[in-house]
Amino acid sequence: MKTHILGFPRIGSQRELKFAVESFWKGEQSEAQLQTVADTLKQTHWGIQRDAGFDTVATGDFSLYDHLLDTAVMLGAIPPRFQSLEPGALSTYFTMARGDAAQGIPPMEMTKWFDTNYHYIVPEFTHGMQFKLSSNRLQQDTRQAQEAGFSPKPVVVGPLTFLQLGKELDSCNRWDYLDDLLPVYEELIRQLSQHCDIIQIDEPIFCTELSPDVSALAQKVYTQLSRAAGSTHLMLATYFESCDHNLDWIADLPVDSLHLDLVRAPAQLPEVLARWPAQKGLSLGIVDGRNIWKSDLLQIIELLQPALTHRDPNTLWFGSSCSLLHCPVNLETETELDPELRNWMAFAVQKCSEIDVLARLQNGDDCSEELRQNSAAIEHRRTSSLTYNPTVRTRVETIKPDHLKRHHPFSVRSAIQQPLLNLPLFPTTTIGSFPQTAEIRRSRKAHRQGTCSEATYRKAMEQEICQVIKEQEQLGLDVLVHGEPERNDMVEYFGQQLDGFCFTQQGWVQSYGSRCVKPPIIYGDVSRPKPMTLDWIQFAQQQTDKPVKGMLTGPVTILCWSFVRNDLPRRVVCQQIAWAIRDELLDLEAAGTRIIQIDEAALREGMPLKASDEQAYLQWAVDCFRLASCGVQDQTQIHTHMCYSEFNAIAEAIAAMDADVISIEASRSGMELLQAFETSPYPNDIGPGVWDIHSPRVPSEEEIFDLLQRARNVIPDDRLWVNPDCGLKTRAWPETKASLQNMVAATQRLRALTH
Ligand code: GLN
Ligand code: ZN
Repeated sequence: MKTHILGFPRIGSQRELKFAVESFWKGEQSEAQLQTVADTLKQTHWGIQRDAGFDTVATGDFSLYDHLLDTAVMLGAIPPRFQSLEPGALSTYFTMARGDAAQGIPPMEMTKWFDTNYHYIVPEFTHGMQFKLSSNRLQQDTRQAQEAGFSPKPVVVGPLTFLQLGKELDSCNRWDYLDDLLPVYEELIRQLSQHCDIIQIDEPIFCTELSPDVSALAQKVYTQLSRAAGSTHLMLATYFESCDHNLDWIADLPVDSLHLDLVRAPAQLPEVLARWPAQKGLSLGIVDGRNIWKSDLLQIIELLQPALTHRDPNTLWFGSSCSLLHCPVNLETETELDPELRNWMAFAVQKCSEIDVLARLQNGDDCSEELRQNSAAIEHRRTSSLTYNPTVRTRVETIKPDHLKRHHPFSVRSAIQQPLLNLPLFPTTTIGSFPQTAEIRRSRKAHRQGTCSEATYRKAMEQEICQVIKEQEQLGLDVLVHGEPERNDMVEYFGQQLDGFCFTQQGWVQSYGSRCVKPPIIYGDVSRPKPMTLDWIQFAQQQTDKPVKGMLTGPVTILCWSFVRNDLPRRVVCQQIAWAIRDELLDLEAAGTRIIQIDEAALREGMPLKASDEQAYLQWAVDCFRLASCGVQDQTQIHTHMCYSEFNAIAEAIAAMDADVISIEASRSGMELLQAFETSPYPNDIGPGVWDIHSPRVPSEEEIFDLLQRARNVIPDDRLWVNPDCGLKTRAWPETKASLQNMVAATQRLRALTH
């Protein structure tokens, strides 16, 4: 039995990488200093894998920014706008990731890595792009590991996944690039094979539903790569889903072993055992690379029985389900977690030990103590009253169809809401947050650390709210917000006030580049002990006669941006959160709030990888939003907000959410997204964003007017709202005021025109 992981988190247990990279950007550290931090981290990670007794250590899983960007640079896939920069320079690499505002070079696009919260840099393919092996970072890392006495296993993003995840910028078909790309991969594999006995090639797209022409390319690709590898073992890694629906052709690929994600997709094992050649290697990904729970070792052994009894143990590997990139580094650093909860968890370092124990058990070593401790923790968690709240369970079981619908359809509600709210044509509003100044963050920090009194903190926040209300009145906005100064994060804020959540001190996970997030952990049944936003919203409303929108985060978004318990279906956890949000909604309504927004920024990213699972997901996700939002009377106006612009796949589901008003990101794509609504029009009110808030650039009145005119081609005047793309918390005041001024002016011009 061999052991390995598919990759280790890069950031360091104290986020060393983040701090080193950021100080390099600021010019405070030299490139050599940054490389020293990087080298130390790599050595540490290899050491952890060796200490866990692994047969190999992963190389190439480390990156200063992103592994897809590394791959693009390595293959020479440099988009034309970066070609005038110094080839191979670290500054060029970071410019590709972050752009160069001074030189007017936009960065490469970034998007979510499958259904995780990790964002990768999207490779760009342009006509005539000359691929060539342009970096020897991976070869060097591999050699370095070998020289340090480790047995390296380089990790390479496979050519088909690389092409599939990129985008072609001209009329070319991305698959046409394969012929040029493949020789570069062959050269890479040839060079790597000098320094290792095994190479891992990641093809997570093999778990999706691929078109037959793509799968047909796989045979050719892997025939060439395996030739290039010579006697070096090629392991094809699939993860995030099952690959058994593609076994027809995967089983014929001339690779030496196949990795399976048996955490996400345990049911594929029998099929793979029946069809994957018995003499070939099989890597069983059984320790969850995407969550923070301790593995149930006995349950894993039981799951693996068919493999263990029917396969030669020399062909088997135990491993992580996917790269451990998606979990925090070391539980040891968590000194403030409730010890009971902590005992249920495992971070990357602990997961490596679990893999080791599993293999040692199988090899007949005495691991009775480890096994006893593991079983005790699992049993303790299974039976703990901390995870179980009978009232919450009953509530979820008693969800009725009536809970999921408003009293009347939109047309009736809208007719009731209009005279009450008395809003002008093209109402103007914002998405919720206003600039989070250093002062606000200081107040919050002092409050969190207990260095200022509750009263002082309240006063500071109330002052901020007063200021934000005054600004909005002066700008002439129609529906106001309180500005969210009390929120550090739209999920954490709610998690901290809900039962069933806990928080770590150092449970950081890379989100993109140097940005890390610390997701809340949902360990138990979720409920709301007391109102969470009511005071702030009420206070804000007292400052103005204009309506102030209540501001909540939706259940699907809270779910997607947390580490979720794995002992209940995600759907059920989401229903519990939805009830808690519904409670808040009803309190806000009872206190006189006439408009309430429920943000569902993450609805789309929760989509399953397989098209065939999408409908089931959308059904429960939309139902959870409806459970959260439908308790109110007809006269209460419900808004929702989503900040992305690809709606084609989910336009129908979004309509089914039945919010009275939806605001969405649209300005960056020049209202392109409205095409999705041409074929299936959004039936209620809609505010396509007219200001790209991702940069400090102030859009002109003319430009906003123009975007609104375009929106009017698709959206009737009486259902069109005017708002920015997203919240303004990362913006500064000067550009915020200037942009909102232009937004209001453009709206007024439009109103004058249509009257
Ligand atoms: N209400 C939130 C804000 O304005 C929404 C943020 C988001 O959609 N990501 O900050
Ligand atoms: Zn947004």
